[in-house]
Amino acid sequence: MTSKALDTFLNENIAGLKEQGLYNEIDPVQGANGPVIKLNGKELINLSSNNYLGLATNETLKEVAKEAVDSHGVGAGAVRTINGTLDLHLELEKKLAAFKGTEAAISYQSGFNCNMAAISAVMDKNDAILSDELNHASIIDGCRLSKAKIIRYKHSDMKDLREKAKEATESGLYHKVMVITDGVFSMDGDVALLPEIVQIAEEFDLITYVDDAHGSGVLGNGAGTVKHFGLQDKVDMQMGTLSKAIGVIGGYVAGKENLIDWLKVRSRPFLFSTAVSPADAAASAKAVDMLMESTELNEKLWENGDYLKEGLKKLGFDIGNSETPITPCIIGDEKDAQQFSKRLYEEGVYAKSIVFPTVPKGTGRVRNMPTAAHTKEMLDEAIAVYEKVGKEMGLI
Ligand SMILES: *Cc1c(COP(=O)(O)O)cnc(C)c1O
Repeated sequence: MTSKALDTFLNENIAGLKEQGLYNEIDPVQGANGPVIKLNGKELINLSSNNYLGLATNETLKEVAKEAVDSHGVGAGAVRTINGTLDLHLELEKKLAAFKGTEAAISYQSGFNCNMAAISAVMDKNDAILSDELNHASIIDGCRLSKAKIIRYKHSDMKDLREKAKEATESGLYHKVMVITDGVFSMDGDVALLPEIVQIAEEFDLITYVDDAHGSGVLGNGAGTVKHFGLQDKVDMQMGTLSKAIGVIGGYVAGKENLIDWLKVRSRPFLFSTAVSPADAAASAKAVDMLMESTELNEKLWENGDYLKEGLKKLGFDIGNSETPITPCIIGDEKDAQQFSKRLYEEGVYAKSIVFPTVPKGTGRVRNMPTAAHTKEMLDEAIAVYEKVGKEMGLI
């Protein structure tokens, strides 16, 4: 017999979420995740992916991945420290370091994994971490795993950060203190105040950690938020993902040689979990090459982002204060946000509602992720659907 306690727990909690409009139904995509996708046999304009540059379906990358399968097989075969470090992984890491302007880099199986790995390898129970209150779930979990004292500061509030940094460092309670932030906050599209954060870090000797999952490929001509501010020499740990703008899968930390050496001997997902496949490593390395060679896709992304924002703003939607192509459309009530997204879907636009706990209660929204792969016609069609549904629901 299986556990009655588990059944009761699951049934009650799932019903509770459904009642509050907080239960997320997952839609399977048929075929590739491009600017137009197929769901339930229906074609939709896709404004929900993190495939910022359209690289997930790029023809060159597909070729490179196929070649890597032919030359190296489908799997890495073992964890990196045993015999799963392939030449392709080392090549990828060399390119990532060049891309980020650091001495070295280490790659992981995912961005989430990366935050689990790197934070806990550097911080422990004798330390403290100053963490922006809107940081990504993987940062929060990575911090928890480290057992360091977690001190949350108000979102991008530099006065609050400074006070808490002073208090933490002067208390004498901690060996080391880190400040950790998203480079770009994915729900609102605002950018971390890195120059101020770095200044506070220098004053109090804080370790700086920037999770640039949504900044890489987007800001700094593609090289990320740290490069955007010219702070490559002042940020200790630059974390990024290969699953968003890079279009593949994986994560990485870039920084000084000694940091990367340490992560290679002390970060547990590196030591105990097999690395990304040859095809992933090769395609990611090629994508990084492409970003370093040309800013064309990056420029197209910004052009499309500005175009969509302008269109929705003109219609009277609240698009928040995004500083990046991320375009939230803030509805407020969770159920309204879900209904709005459902109507968009019926009219041929795929933009997911995002509700608590991913964003604060009462700020339910539909988030749009325009990419370099969208055409003007697709964006015009999406804007027309927004107008129709917005009027129908009395939102504009
Ligand atoms: C998506 C995301 C991650 C996780 O990256 P994956 O490669 O998808 O695991 C980590 N941090 C932030 C800020 C993210 O947005």
